[in-house]
Amino acid sequence: MPRSSLPAPDGAPAPSRVLPRIAHALLELLSPTRCVGCERPGALLCENCLDRVAWIDPASSCLACGAPFGAIVCTECRGAATPLTWCLAAAAFEDPVPRLIRAYKDHGEQRAAYVIAELLAAYYQAAQERAGERLVHCAPDAVTFVPVTAQAYRRRGFDHMEQVARIVAETLQLPLVDALAKHGSADQRSFGRQGRLEQARGAYEVVTEVNGRSLLLLDDVITTGATVNAAAEALLARGASQVAVLALARVW
Ligand SMILES: [Zn+2]
Ligand SMILES: [Zn+2]
Repeated sequence: MPRSSLPAPDGAPAPSRVLPRIAHALLELLSPTRCVGCERPGALLCENCLDRVAWIDPASSCLACGAPFGAIVCTECRGAATPLTWCLAAAAFEDPVPRLIRAYKDHGEQRAAYVIAELLAAYYQAAQERAGERLVHCAPDAVTFVPVTAQAYRRRGFDHMEQVARIVAETLQLPLVDALAKHGSADQRSFGRQGRLEQARGAYEVVTEVNGRSLLLLDDVITTGATVNAAAEALLARGASQVAVLALARVW
């Protein structure tokens, strides 16, 4: 008998709602959710590991490249010209953050999108409170994201930052604009610093109307800044009024 034809007694939850929960509970028994940071069963990122995240203070970070302690003189970008209105990176690229990103991008742990989005949205809101006067010159009216290449999309089956951006946009109550396409096939991680700078330039094409928009551009990791700068340049060239960047992590 097909499941949908089972009559639900009055007041009883419909089988279509109960069955997925039972399936989920049984799966958890077989293979419990483990923390990406310490492998303890329970949450995808446990409280202990959340406490280990090396947050970057938005009151003293470099707003050109997201590096910590760069508010006055940034040893990373040394005040180089940037197309970004501001750039925030939530945390240092130190455990457990790299593990969280790897679980999501390389090991197909799609629930990590929710964890990453929650961290990004919470950091953005905390930064407004802690360092609002530094960010006041750009109040984004839409969220967009750095897309993956077509090759990476085929390999993973999803665009990891699109999923994160959708949740962040919902949380911040801003529209999501799927504005960029990426050319080329190379994974930035396979390049050295100079290679990344050269490869990122001209790699992004704007595929939707962004004229007059003030955009919050999301990415997972900032290494040299080449990627977000190239993406922002493309958006500004097509009429975006401002581009501010929010990334989960900064390598330096
Ligand atoms: Zn943990
Ligand atoms: Zn900097």
